Amino acid sequence: MQLGLAGRRALVCAASKGLGRACALALAREGVDVVITARHQDTLLESATILRQEAPSVKVTTVVGDIATEEGREAALSVLPDPDILINNAGGPPPGDFRNFTRDDWIKALDANMLAPIALIKATIDRMAERKFGRIVNITSGAVKAPIGVLGLSNGARAGLTGFVAGVARQVASSGVTINNLLPGKFDTDRLRQTLKAQAERNGRSLVDEISVAERAVPAGRFGHPDEFGAFCAFLCSTQAAYMTGQNILLDGGAYPGVL
Ligand code: NAP
Repeated sequence: MQLGLAGRRALVCAASKGLGRACALALAREGVDVVITARHQDTLLESATILRQEAPSVKVTTVVGDIATEEGREAALSVLPDPDILINNAGGPPPGDFRNFTRDDWIKALDANMLAPIALIKATIDRMAERKFGRIVNITSGAVKAPIGVLGLSNGARAGLTGFVAGVARQVASSGVTINNLLPGKFDTDRLRQTLKAQAERNGRSLVDEISVAERAVPAGRFGHPDEFGAFCAFLCSTQAAYMTGQNILLDGGAYPGVL
C-alpha cells in the first residue's frame, strides 16, 4: 500500500529511542522528512544515523531539548514551524503511591504528558487546517482505557489530554486534519525493560523470569515490537486514514479485555 506521504514533513517528539523512534523510522521509510527531538544528544544522533541509513532519500534533522519545556518546544518549532505531521510523545511519569505525589510531581506529569502536546497542537494546527492536510498522533498509554493503580500521574495527565483531543478533533475534522491517540500496551523498549527490572527485584525473580511472566500475561504471548507501533502510526498519518479522527487506538496484543 502506498501511504501517500512522500514529501511531507513531520515533527516527531521524543524520538531517540523506543516508540517515538519507531514512528520516525516508519515515516522516513515512507519518504517523510523528519525532525526528531530528545534531551540527550548522543542517542539522538545515533538514531538520526539509523534513520538516514534506512531512508537515505529523506532529510533527517535533530533538535536537542526537553519537549516538556517551552524552550524545548520553541527549539523544535524553530526548525519546523509548520509540520504536516506531528507526533506527540515524551517519557512517562514515574510510578508510585498517590499519597506521596507532591504538587511538583503532578505539574511535571501534566507538563510532559498533557500540556506539551496541547501546546504543540496549538502551535501547528491552524496552519495544517489552512493547507487542508494535517495528521496529529499522540502517543499515550493503554492505561487511558484501563488505568493502572501505581501509575496515577500517568492516568491523570493522559486522561486530560484524551479529553482535550476528543473535543478539538471534531473542530478541525472538516479541514483535512485528523488527531488520534495511539495507546501502547507492553512494547519492548528501554522503558519497559527498566520497569520490569525494578519489578523483578521487588518480586525476587530474575529479569528473564519476570519478562516471561509478563509476556505470558499478554494474550498475544509476547511484547509488541516498536516497528509494529511505528507502522500503525504511519498508517494513521496516511491519506487512507483521512476518515479516522478523535480515536483512541489500543495496540496491546489483546491485553485490554473489554469490548468497548
Ligand atoms: P523509551 O524507550 O524510554 O524512550 C523514550 C524516548 O523519549 C527517548 O528517546 C527519550 O530520550 C525521549 N524523551 C523522554 N522524555 C523526553 C522529553 N521530556 N523531551 C524530549 N524527549 C524525551 O520510552 P517508550 O517505551 O518509547 O515510551 C514512550 C511513551 O509511551 C512514554 O510516555 C511511555 O510512558 C509510553 N508507554 C510506553 C509503553 C511501553 O510498553 N513501551 C507502554 C505504555 C505507555 P531522552 O531521554 O534523551 O530525552
